[in-house]
Parts: sequence; C-alpha cells; structure tokens
Amino acid sequence: MERDIIKIDNLEVYAYHGVLPAENELGQKFYVNAQLEVDLRPAGLKDELHLSVNYGEVCHFIHDYMTNNRFKLIEAIAEQMAEEVLLHYKRVTGITLEIRKPQAPIGLAFESVSVCVHRQWHRTYIACGSNLGEREQFIESAVRSMCNHPSCRVLQESELLQSTPYGMEEQGEFVNGVVEMDTLLPPMELLDYLHTLEQIAGRERTAHWGPRTLDLDILLYDDFIIDTETLTIPHPDMSNRDFVLQPLAELAGYMRHPLTHLTIQEMLTDLQRRMIAHIKQ
Ligand code: ATP
Ligand code: CA
Ligand code: CA
Repeated sequence: MERDIIKIDNLEVYAYHGVLPAENELGQKFYVNAQLEVDLRPAGLKDELHLSVNYGEVCHFIHDYMTNNRFKLIEAIAEQMAEEVLLHYKRVTGITLEIRKPQAPIGLAFESVSVCVHRQWHRTYIACGSNLGEREQFIESAVRSMCNHPSCRVLQESELLQSTPYGMEEQGEFVNGVVEMDTLLPPMELLDYLHTLEQIAGRERTAHWGPRTLDLDILLYDDFIIDTETLTIPHPDMSNRDFVLQPLAELAGYMRHPLTHLTIQEMLTDLQRRMIAHIKQ
C-alpha cells in the first residue's frame, strides 16, 4: 500500500529542556522534523482541507507542546509528543519525529545532535475468555477498561459465544469473544496491560488451561511475528480453536494470518473440516 506523508522540516522552537540548570534558565533553539502518515487521497481528490491534516495547526501544536512542557531529555520530548500528535489528530496513523538540539552544551564543534522516533497505531485482536463467576461481566468490564485506556481504541467486539473447555475438560463452560483494537502500546506493554486486567478480575493462576475468571490472549498484532519466552504472536494455537476463529472471522474473516497466509475464514473452514473428520473416525 502507498504510504502518504505530510512533512514538516526544521520547525524552530525556543524552549527550556535539558539536564543542566543553565539550559532550563536560558533556554535554547530546538528544531523539529516530522513526517505525518496520513492517507492523502481523499483530500487530493476533493481539494478539501478537512479531509487532510492542517500542517499549520500541527506546527502550532508542536510549538505549544514544547513550550508548555519541560523535559530533561529530547528522548522524552520525542516519545511523549509523538503520542500526543497521534492521539490528537485522528487521520495521522503514524509519525516519524526528530528533535534536533544544535546548541546542546557539549563543548565541542558540532552541527547538531538529535533523536528520531517512529510511532504508529497498531491493529490488534484480543481473545477474551472466562469460565468462572460472572463470566460475561468479567469480559465486559475488561473491554470497558480497554475502551478507557488512553493509548487504545476499541473498534469492534464480536458476539460472546459459549464453548466447552479446551485442554482440561473437567471444568465449567467458557464464554469467549474477540476484540479488535488499535493501540499505541508495543506488544510487551500490551501483554503487561492485559495481565493487569486479568488480575483486576481476580484471576488466580492454578492449572494451565484451568478455570479462570478472565483470560486475555493477543491473537494478532499487525503482521508481527514474535517468538520469545513470554510472548508468541500470532497466538500459536489459534488455528485449532473454533472459539477463537469463529468470533475473529465475524470481525475480520478476510484478514490473512502472517505465517500461513490463509484468511481467518479459510482457517475456520479448515478447522471445521478437521473436526468433522475427527468425529467420523
Ligand atoms: P494458551 O496461551 O494456550 O491459551 P493460557 O491462556 O491458559 O494458554 P496463560 O496461563 O494465560 O495461558 O498464559 C501463560 C503465559 O503465556 C503468559 O504469562 C504469557 O507470558 C504467555 N504468552 C505467550 N504468548 C501470548 C499471547 N500471544 N497472548 C497472551 N499470553 C501469551
Ligand atoms: Ca488462552
Ligand atoms: Ca492467556
């Protein structure tokens, strides 16, 4: 897919960031380069400003943010301002932000020092399950928390469905669903956040695949492929779980699994075929 950008080059901001007290008292010049990822086609076709992002406004937004806040590090300016721009401008799906500090107190001749970050919204799918206590309520209240998280935007929720336990069969029926969400959290931070939601629901880790008030698994995160000790994405067992594929297909049946390149709908059909073949045996 094409990636359109709006570029801001060397926006000058006089501000008071720095580790040294002299920097906080006297201030200095900073320069900001920004590349805003925006789909420019609607504005390009219609010639209407409201279909794009007003770069003048963004320049003032950056200027005001840098003069109204104080940071020690240009890393912190870049990190936090990138997030603010992504939260404030709904059409901006990603940003590359460079903060330059040509007058940094280094005591040597140099042109400039800078940091550069790239941040963007990521599309993720979260499987929710519960088979203890007020099952629907545990899931609904977790989804409400996700809706209220400043760095998350819940886009769609599947229907909740009942399913028989998987792996360890001597336990109560499950309620399952899937949430489609855009997030600014990197994968590990998202996993930590989901763990806190499980803890809020009073989850106790007893047996693997045992009864639980709330289980939140990351199924997909863009087309990332991650395999570490604590996190595997795509979820390694999703192709064998109808209680995952069915609600996921309801939200995004056309989407392709980044490893097998099958669509979710194809994965579901394949699983159903395997289940029927298993019953007939
Ligand atoms: P399963 O992952 O097979 O559905 P489970 O959900 O019952 O099993 P948990 O006890 O909830 O397993 O999680 C164990 C650990 O799995 C978590 O602490 C986490 O570190 C790790 N994990 C690995 N990949 C993922 C993922 N994609 N989503 C959530 N947790 C994951
Ligand atoms: Ca699980
Ligand atoms: Ca889990």
